[in-house]
Amino acid sequence: MTSQEMRHKADAVMMQTYTRFPVVLVKGKGCVVWDMEGRSYRDFIAGIAVCNLGHAHPIVSEALRKQAESLWHVSNLYYTVPQTELAEWLTGHSFADRVFFCNSGAEANEAAIKLCRKYFHDRGEKERYRIISMTQSFHGRTMAALSATGQDKIKKGFDPVLGGFDFVAFDDIHALKQKVGPDTAAVMLEPVQGEGGVRCPSPGYLQAVRKICDDTGTLLVFDEIQTGMGRTGKLFAYEHFGIIPDVMTLAKALGNGLPIGTMLATEQAASAFTPGAHATTFGGTPIVTAAALGVVKTMEAENIVAHSAQVGSYFKKKLKSLQEKHPLIEDVRGVGLLIGLQMKIKGDAVVTACMEKGFLINCIQETTLRFAPPLIVQETDIDALVDCLDEVLKEITI
Ligand code: PLP
Repeated sequence: MTSQEMRHKADAVMMQTYTRFPVVLVKGKGCVVWDMEGRSYRDFIAGIAVCNLGHAHPIVSEALRKQAESLWHVSNLYYTVPQTELAEWLTGHSFADRVFFCNSGAEANEAAIKLCRKYFHDRGEKERYRIISMTQSFHGRTMAALSATGQDKIKKGFDPVLGGFDFVAFDDIHALKQKVGPDTAAVMLEPVQGEGGVRCPSPGYLQAVRKICDDTGTLLVFDEIQTGMGRTGKLFAYEHFGIIPDVMTLAKALGNGLPIGTMLATEQAASAFTPGAHATTFGGTPIVTAAALGVVKTMEAENIVAHSAQVGSYFKKKLKSLQEKHPLIEDVRGVGLLIGLQMKIKGDAVVTACMEKGFLINCIQETTLRFAPPLIVQETDIDALVDCLDEVLKEITI
């Protein structure tokens, strides 16, 4: 079967929720993926910040294979070893005392929203349920996660969305100060906005957000679904700012491609989740948590977070040099290996041209090229991509 035939088949039966690129990917190894016709692509998007250890990492594959031969799934009515060990690893490496496992980022945020509401409900503050999130934020596509998302285009057609959400501009501390009131349960934000265009906060902003939350007894929720697991050059992005949240959500890279989400919290915040308060059939199932354990152990053994920081700053420098050559580039933003190149033109033609030259990159908010390669990416891969961008941009400016 040809690639074109396969694409036609898919288009006939899949719900049309994505405008896909005309390739069928069949294989991946490290930072490279291959299509049905055997063409290779260096992957600078990694399944959107998911495959941090690259594709088909042998240690993760082995962890998965071993677990597949013993126990795939039991209900959360029972204890399992990999789930416990992963929870221990996560609490041992973060501010959190307790962990709730689920299957995706949106689900992790649903859990966080429910936790914050119940936390105040249990304290007798039943009217204190509102959550403030940020304009241009992205928290997922399920109904509560979508309601918390500060982008109208994501909500279009789904009214009425869930009530109880307020929005203020990201990075505007005065706006937040004015909005927080006695009915505010939580402030929820991405420490670095991902889908919103790779937007970093100004120095001092997140510390000031923490202070407002402390002064008012409001919970602070960090959505680290995109920024967590080493993406920004620290294990968690909050570590850049010398503060901790009360609640944090993770997903994406934790399973390196296996579907897993988690909501982590301090002992105090987690106290709201009592037996029966929240549940999931698949969350934290042995097969997925065994793979995620393989991921985190490999990250440690291979010093992946330090590599992400080092290669990320090399990448940013190279892109800044590219900016000096190309007036079409307006800005280079980001931290670690989450980098945005703000263009003065729409970015889709650049994405397509890069793909034709063997590089997968991505464009968000129409004009921002986003790079989120596997964290194992090497400087030689980056050099090759930057040369490719140089060529593509020359062709566009001519
Ligand atoms: N939160 C953030 C910051 C994200 O980047 C995403 C996905 O891009 C989500 C939540 C939703 O995660 P999922 O697609 O796994 O539901």
